[in-house]
Amino acid sequence: MPRRVVILGCTGSIGRQALDVVQRSGGELELVGISAGRDWQQLLEQAQQFGVDRIALADPDAAARASEAWTAGTVLSGPEGLVALVTEGDCDLVLNAIVGAAGLLATVATLGEGIDLALANKESLVVGGELVNQLAEATGAQILPVDSEHSALHQLLAGEGAGTVDRLLLTASGGPFRGHTAQQLADVSAEQALAHPTWSMGGKISIDSATLMNKGLEVIEAHHLFGVPYEQIDVVVHPQSIIHALIQLCDGATLAHLGYPDMRVPIAYALHHPARTEVPVPALDLVSVGALTFEPPDVETFPCLRLAREAGIAGGTAPCILNAANEVAVHAFLEGRLQFIGIAAVIEQTLSKLPAQTVHSFESLLAADADARRVASELIEA
Ligand code: NAD
Ligand code: MG
Repeated sequence: MPRRVVILGCTGSIGRQALDVVQRSGGELELVGISAGRDWQQLLEQAQQFGVDRIALADPDAAARASEAWTAGTVLSGPEGLVALVTEGDCDLVLNAIVGAAGLLATVATLGEGIDLALANKESLVVGGELVNQLAEATGAQILPVDSEHSALHQLLAGEGAGTVDRLLLTASGGPFRGHTAQQLADVSAEQALAHPTWSMGGKISIDSATLMNKGLEVIEAHHLFGVPYEQIDVVVHPQSIIHALIQLCDGATLAHLGYPDMRVPIAYALHHPARTEVPVPALDLVSVGALTFEPPDVETFPCLRLAREAGIAGGTAPCILNAANEVAVHAFLEGRLQFIGIAAVIEQTLSKLPAQTVHSFESLLAADADARRVASELIEA
């Protein structure tokens, strides 16, 4: 029996690489639903190519255009459409590759139905980690990380018993501005920030990598995925991106996960879990890699990593506020309305204007998210 898969955010960087994994699965993975934000034309092409008859578009106008153009299948619209794609599609696994806090609803819908979730959308866990975990526990659904560092950790931790792991280590490439001084960062452009040295990714995560916010979000993500306290999660800069993560054990051993940077590896791991499958990446040739180097992250010049860690430790609505302010600031930077160094400043000021509160429900997260977006936008316009 093929595994029936829904891919959310199918037109993005992760979504398109996931289609490649599905195509190579020889029928083991069957695509039963796909979604996108707005790009209905690309989504329709994908549906036709993969014989999918249920699609969803978050943008109602885009959904209306798609319904006019396509009569061979069902077009669902808006956030309710996204939820219906997941809950009424009789699927075994959902890949959430939506970007931003907009992905939280789909995470909740999937886990709430007891459906296993391959999670690329790290923002879901950053914003709603505790509630998301409670939901997964209540329904018994599994969360399989797609983020490369967390996929590596999932694999490294699989063989370890309770109490043997002292530390998790996430590697960071350092992004395109590694080694820059604060002065050099003052006038960097969006184009420079989008040029990631080792990974090819969507716009928002590329900027997050340049500010080191991506690694900050990943520290929070690791905390929720693996239940490890923040003081036992470290970050090391490793510019070659060959080692994806390490774990340090109580007997002095350190285990590492290595491979060339290619997101199809962690995507295939999550979609086929617990089986392994062939992925067309070259076998690692350590001699040709030559040297693996490491350095500490520069949290003075790149304050986002510190801000994220602090928000994670503060808990409650703080990570949700951090994430929302970051999304607004990154958007403004990409549109040329905010300088690169302004991103961290906007996040820090938003956090100081909105004290963290206890999270009682998903509604309280939505309210904190909206408040943070309003405050961050005001700071940018001022
Ligand atoms: P992307 O911008 O390339 O694609 C995002 C997808 O989400 C698109 O299909 C888009 O149509 C859809 N989308 C956008 N806004 C939406 C909304 N409001 N509602 C519903 N759908 C919406 O992003 P990406 O680089 O593929 O990243 C997706 C997620 O995976 C992010 O959370 C990112 O942090 C994470 N991730 C990405 C990579 C990578 O290599 N790209 C690596 C690790 C983790
Ligand atoms: Mg990552």
